[in-house]
Amino acid sequence: MNLQQPNANEATRTSNRSRSVVPSSGLCTRCVDGCRGNCEIFQATFRGREVIYPGPFGEITAGGDKNYPLDYSHLNIQGYALGAKGLPKGVEGNPDTATFPAVNTETDYGWDIKVKMRVPIFTGALGSTEIARKNWEHFAVGAAISGVTLVCGENVCGINPQLELDSNKKIKNAPDMDRRIETYKRYHQGYGEILVQMNVEDTRLGVAEYVHAKHGLQTIELKWGQGAKCIGGEIKVKSLERA
Ligand code: SF4
Repeated sequence: MNLQQPNANEATRTSNRSRSVVPSSGLCTRCVDGCRGNCEIFQATFRGREVIYPGPFGEITAGGDKNYPLDYSHLNIQGYALGAKGLPKGVEGNPDTATFPAVNTETDYGWDIKVKMRVPIFTGALGSTEIARKNWEHFAVGAAISGVTLVCGENVCGINPQLELDSNKKIKNAPDMDRRIETYKRYHQGYGEILVQMNVEDTRLGVAEYVHAKHGLQTIELKWGQGAKCIGGEIKVKSLERA
């Protein structure tokens, strides 16, 4: 049993000509000569590797729609309302005090240096993709005022056309990284932090040294490989000059 439908997906803006589709291949049961349909195989004959990119480029984020046989909707949590724990000392639990707005969701992490959070949430890592770059402001401001930790993804410095390197090929000036950090810090209210993810190229460029020396960041996330995304590790650019 195939848990997803290969060969056609909204993410790649492809579809089958027929309603009858072979589950294992995603081909229509009648793949007809002269088809003007729009499946991935059909498009790949014209557009080659371009088809693997969800599109339109720079305008979307894409997720997988694999239909796992088990998800949270299969579970029922049989809650009950009896008593109240965690109320301030001396406060009796009753319908007026044990209310949702009174719940304290704050927490912290870190061994020697604690980072407080208003709610235990880390964002996904938004890095060098165009959609992340141009939507950074509201994403970063939202994380800062919510008191959660914002993860800046990898390769942000390397993809920045205004990047300046010193004679040792280490970062001297990375304007887009500066912008991202400064945007978060402008609205930071003491909860959460911005941390920067680093891949091999970031390590070679000295991203950790740069964000620590220039912005005082104390947390990095070292990345060993791609796990979450089937086409991760690649980004698309609008021109060879940008590359
Ligand atoms: S080429 Fe056309 S007929 Fe063949 S599998 Fe694709 S959509 Fe279906």
